[in-house]
Amino acid sequence: MGNMPDHELLISLRKELHKFPELSGNEEMTSRRITRFLEKLRPDEIINNIGGNGLAARFRGSSAGPRVMIRAELDALPIHELNDFEHISSVPGVSHKCGHDGHMAIVAGVAGQFAAERPGRGELIVLFQPSEENGKGAYAVVNDPGFVSLRPDFVLALHNLPGFELNEIILRDGVFAMASVGMIIDLKGKTSHAAQPEKGISPSIAVSRLINELPLMAKGDDFSHFTLVTIIHVRIGEIAFGTSPGNGVVMATLRAYDNVEMESLISMAEAIARKIALEENLEISVSWTEKFPATVNDKFLNNMIGRIGKESGFKVSYIEDAFKWSEDFGWLTSEYRGLLFGIGAGKGHPELHHPDYDFPDRVLDAGVSILSSACRELFKL
Ligand SMILES: [Zn+2]
Ligand SMILES: [Zn+2]
Repeated sequence: MGNMPDHELLISLRKELHKFPELSGNEEMTSRRITRFLEKLRPDEIINNIGGNGLAARFRGSSAGPRVMIRAELDALPIHELNDFEHISSVPGVSHKCGHDGHMAIVAGVAGQFAAERPGRGELIVLFQPSEENGKGAYAVVNDPGFVSLRPDFVLALHNLPGFELNEIILRDGVFAMASVGMIIDLKGKTSHAAQPEKGISPSIAVSRLINELPLMAKGDDFSHFTLVTIIHVRIGEIAFGTSPGNGVVMATLRAYDNVEMESLISMAEAIARKIALEENLEISVSWTEKFPATVNDKFLNNMIGRIGKESGFKVSYIEDAFKWSEDFGWLTSEYRGLLFGIGAGKGHPELHHPDYDFPDRVLDAGVSILSSACRELFKL
């Protein structure tokens, strides 16, 4: 492993990050911890406050060449941790349940590799982006003026995946993780005395129709790939037994295979909602949030990581279907040649976003090794 920050150092960084989790958009301390770690590696430059609390460090080689970016995520989740180890989250109701603590440690480890042994040519950028979980971070980073000088030729990221063998490399050419978006439907009618609901305009029928019809839309023949609408929140009126409600809200998450199918799913959903509102005599406004484009993998990078994985003795699997979850790394792959690959967290490992999940430290070395080998190859191109 040469001069890289040793295994123990990465584990202790990972556990420290785990102990002090921060929610999307509030990653100030995490960002500072990472900055302190990177400073010791003497990069050419550290750029702070990219897209919020994001930061990047650059390690230049001796001559010009490809710029390779490796990305990790800074944020944790609003989930109360149910574990009893020493590095348990110190923040009630908040914890690293997606393994972003581990991804950060891996990317810090890659930085360590190239700090000890600078690339012959080319440049390494390590990027720690905020707000992955709400889909805001990568978009904000890519559109930050500070990102202009960091624009990569290639961008790589990994995500640990419970349910796969430990350190199994999971790849897919093309769409790796699907697109998703949050839909908010606000309905406005008129309140009335609960004894005379006919004198008001209640949104209750429209809401129940939306709950039924929106998910059905995704099950029809309009889409050639997996499509899904999940109702996630519903509300009508207030808790007032004397009042027939005058407003309602329906929220749903839409999932589609790629960005093209997502566009048609969005127009269909909006058309159905407007039709129902019209028929039920309600005013309607539709808004969208937490937009994740599909993460689309570059063929060349996909093959390269597959080969490196095999050469390094890891099990390499090519999944048939794209993952149904989404990743805001899609904002990076829609603009740059990029690859997101999975790394197995172990078959029986607690699932992502479950309260008993913890990043498996035995993935750290494999992650550092595969990403570093990939960088070494890309710098030579
Ligand atoms: Zn997550
Ligand atoms: Zn994640």
